[in-house]
Amino acid sequence: MKFRNFKMVDYVVYGRGSFDQVDEIIAPRRKDGQPMVFLVDHFFENKNELISRIPLRGNDKIVFADVTNEPKTTYVDALAKELKDTYGTVSGIIGIGGGSTMDLAKAVSLMMNNPGSSADYQGWDLVKVPGVYKVGIPTLSGTGAEVSRTTVLTGPVRKLGMNSDFTPFDQIVLDPALTQGAPKNQAFYTGMDCYIHCIESLEGTFLNEFSKSYGEKALELCREVYLGREVWDDDCDDKLMMASYAGGMSIAYSQVGVAHAVSYGLSFLLGTKHGVGNCIVFDHLEEFYPEGVKEFKEMVVKHQIDIPKNVTKGLTDEQFDKMIDVSLGMAPLWENALGKNWQEQMTRERLRALYEKF
Ligand code: NAD
Ligand code: ZN
Repeated sequence: MKFRNFKMVDYVVYGRGSFDQVDEIIAPRRKDGQPMVFLVDHFFENKNELISRIPLRGNDKIVFADVTNEPKTTYVDALAKELKDTYGTVSGIIGIGGGSTMDLAKAVSLMMNNPGSSADYQGWDLVKVPGVYKVGIPTLSGTGAEVSRTTVLTGPVRKLGMNSDFTPFDQIVLDPALTQGAPKNQAFYTGMDCYIHCIESLEGTFLNEFSKSYGEKALELCREVYLGREVWDDDCDDKLMMASYAGGMSIAYSQVGVAHAVSYGLSFLLGTKHGVGNCIVFDHLEEFYPEGVKEFKEMVVKHQIDIPKNVTKGLTDEQFDKMIDVSLGMAPLWENALGKNWQEQMTRERLRALYEKF
């Protein structure tokens, strides 16, 4: 097909306090004897303010998602197996947390109905059967995982998403109050994922008016909250949640670029997390995104954020080669950033020199 035909999220509710509407929203999707499973970021394990508001009915269950590491196919498979062994099937999976928890929720939903391992479905359009009903409720803003048609997983051989028309959520609940109180550095790294999505999409060769409209709006919101305000207030959380949504919509019809391609290498080798990894890389990408990097540095200074340094110091040639392999494997990202002849521009030597800066 020449033009992409996007499967999007079916239902969206937005608003401060909208979390309290979850009970009503999911009621029609409940099936007799089959629980709703709330997959909740382990950060909230002892946070009764949130846990007490989860609308448990019948044999519903809360499962805390261990997101110490970003999602792995083995973890997805284990979660799905446990639910299948215990209940046969479930009415739905409701992911409450950051991008990692939302990705886990999407992947577990798919693996409730698809045979084999989630690793078999890392790639494009390999998933053939819809998952169980799935709901995404972000508690950090920035990744756009709430709207995307992928779920990024680290498997035995690759870090790659289960990209498919069955991957997007059936429902998302955007309640900015849930992001309140996240640690400053973490919230910034995740927020910058959105900012970087905007720059990479808007400066990419795949750009069209659809992506541009969303990307420009998301960028405007990021600028306002990170540079236009003296204090961070509720309005900033409200805006950043919509920036994340719009940023995700922007890359849905374009692609990310250099920062993502390079940070995937760091993440694969060193386990560097997505948000902070993007920040480590983007900080050194003046040659690709001069204006964006300048503005990013202003935001870092204004918000007094620590960007880790010397993360590739002392790595062996073999380790650099591994990162370079992983990164150059992300062809669509490079093509979006540099154009069709990207391979002539981004040689292994140039990429190695870039990795040595981090
Ligand atoms: P995260 O989900 O990895 O969470 C980071 C940390 O913040 C964790 O320790 C978590 O427990 C904690 N946390 C979450 N919500 C919190 C809150 N409200 N208060 C305090 N702490 C909280 O971070 P992220 O940046 O949101 O997500 C990164 C993940 O998203 C990566 O796994 C990445 O691959 C994925 N991602 C997916 C897509 C997609 O389209 N599917 C896009 C971008 C990123
Ligand atoms: Zn990203």
